[in-house]
Parts: sequence; C-alpha cells; structure tokens
Amino acid sequence: DAESLNPQEKEFDKALRPLSFLDFSGQGKIVDNLQIFVGAAKAREEALDHVLLHGPPGLGKTTLSHIIANELGSSLKISSGPVLDKPSDLAGLLTNLQPYDVLFIDEIHRLNPIVEEYLYSAMEDYKIDIMLDSGPNARSIQIGLNPFTLIGATTRAGLLTSPLRARFGINARLEYYDAALLTKIVKRSASILDMPIDESGAYEIARRSRGTPRIANNLLRRTRDFAQMKGNGSIDVKIAEIALNALDVDQNGLDEMDNRILLTIIEKFKGGPVGLTTIATACGEEAETIEEVYEPFLIQEGFLKRTSRGREATEKAYRHVGIAPRAETGS
Ligand code: ADP
Repeated sequence: DAESLNPQEKEFDKALRPLSFLDFSGQGKIVDNLQIFVGAAKAREEALDHVLLHGPPGLGKTTLSHIIANELGSSLKISSGPVLDKPSDLAGLLTNLQPYDVLFIDEIHRLNPIVEEYLYSAMEDYKIDIMLDSGPNARSIQIGLNPFTLIGATTRAGLLTSPLRARFGINARLEYYDAALLTKIVKRSASILDMPIDESGAYEIARRSRGTPRIANNLLRRTRDFAQMKGNGSIDVKIAEIALNALDVDQNGLDEMDNRILLTIIEKFKGGPVGLTTIATACGEEAETIEEVYEPFLIQEGFLKRTSRGREATEKAYRHVGIAPRAETGS
C-alpha cells in the first residue's frame, strides 16, 4: 500500500510507524508469539521461519515486518506480488539477500504462478533453479541462497494456493483494533507530531476509524487541519466531531462508501441477498475492493451478512440508514 501514498503521506507514515514490538499496540497474541520465535531464531543463529500475515489493509502487516527485521538485526527487502512479474525478478531479489535477511512480499496472493513455483524451493531449501538460454540449448543451473525469511502479506488468505500456504511455518491473522487500543495509537501519533489532543478527542477519532490504525492516523491528520482553522489548534471532542462529520465519517465510523454499499443493498435490492459483482457495479467500486476493504468491517460490525445466495443487509443496517426493515411475511 505504501507505494501509492504521496510524498507527504509517506513522511507521515514513516514518522508514525512503530519500530519495535514494544511500540506496537494490540495484536497481543501475535506479537507475543513473534517475539518468542524471533528470540529463538536469533539464539540458534538460524533464519526465522517464513511468516504469513493476513488481514484487512492498514492493520499493521508492513509495520510488523519492519519490526521483525529490526529485532532480528537484519535488513528488510520489500516487494509485492504484482511487481514480481518474471522468475528473473524474483531470482534477482533472492540472490541479493544477505544471511538472515527478511524479504517482504505484499499482496502475495497476486504472484504470477510461474514465479510462485520458483519460490517453493527457495523457501524450502534456500535454492533456486535458473534457466539458461532457451530452445535446444536450454539448461538450468541451481543456485544456493543465503538463509532468509520470507514474510508474505495478504488481504485474502483464501486465495493462496495450498502449496504456498504450506511453506509458511508461522501464520497470523491480524484483527481489527478496538477503540481503546486505537485511542492509545492516536495519542502516540499526536505526541510524535506535537499535536495537542485531549482524551475525549483521541477517543472520538479512534472509535470512528473502522478499527484500523492507518485510518486513525489519517483522520488525526485531517482533524489537525480543522483544529487549526476552526479552533485554537488543539484537538478536543468538539473539533473531532466537526472534522469527522465534514469528512463524511458517520457516528458509527462508517465512511461514505460503507454507507453507499448498505443503501444500495437496501434501496435497490430490497436488502438482498444480492451478489457481490452486482453490488460493485451499482456502487461504482471494484468488487475486489468491496470484498477486501469494506465488507469485512461491515460484517464484523453486524451491518452485513454473507449468505450462500449473496450479501444481505441486517436489521442493524436498516436502522443505521434510517429505513424501516421489510416486514417479515413469514411466507
Ligand atoms: P498493512 O501493511 O497491514 O496495510 P501498515 O503496517 O502499513 O498496514 O500500517 C498502516 C499504518 O498504521 C502504519 O504506518 C502505522 O503507523 C500504523 N499502525 C499499524 N499498526 C499499528 C500498531 N499496532 N500500533 C501503532 N501504529 C500502527
């Protein structure tokens, strides 16, 4: 994700990114386990087992990868599934790794299948076969690699092939953050950026951030603008409310697209069930984005249900958009 940010956002992202396990809030069990695995690998002078991190965007997969590399005292090389187009792209990356380095591949579910095949022996035996020449002269040579750790990140663990999934010794699913944790993260970010903020202001931003640290940090930054232009520069609950309302983040923390999805299902499709691609077309958003970004949160918060026949709006969704639920006819 970080690649699509503008330079100013990148700066901001870098300043706020926790650098050690101690700095990282939440995901307690995952962090506890990773600390043990990292400590043990270091003590044995072995590469850490390969790690698969999955979960919705913005929950800390990239951040954790930086932390793991830092704590191992190794460097982190970053790439992504769609970028690794040809086996030679992967080979170039792998052969340049120093012992115990960490290779991070974002969106690993989008790897080209041919490239993925090359990854298997690299992960398993620290070896790759490289084809030399083509046609009648084609032959392959095997190249040994330094021991390394692959960290794969994905928003869609279900799309991983089973041979790839089986090669990760450590598998962790990141969860949405609760408001208390996000309040802590917002206060930490505000203090790094020297923004005055009070407890209730931090909580207001936190509870309306879709359980996502990246969104909390972005809303904090936008709220600072409102505090400067409409207040005295410091953030309290009143300024936070003004900012969040202006940004179309509603009382439940749903944003404009969340609401559009719910309204579409309710108004155009009688509350569903309706298929994902139909919803996507009606909302003018990619089906993949709806499935990876919007739907998991709407389901967790009880606004949406996934059934075998499609997506259905719940009673809570009807109440949220202010429309009376369909009467149950019982037929
Ligand atoms: P992902 O890779 O899952 O999309 P990132 O690791 O890029 O998410 O996280 C997005 C931003 O959110 C990071 O820049 C970081 O500042 C912040 N962040 C994520 N998780 C945490 C956390 N547990 N504590 C503090 N900040 C976090």
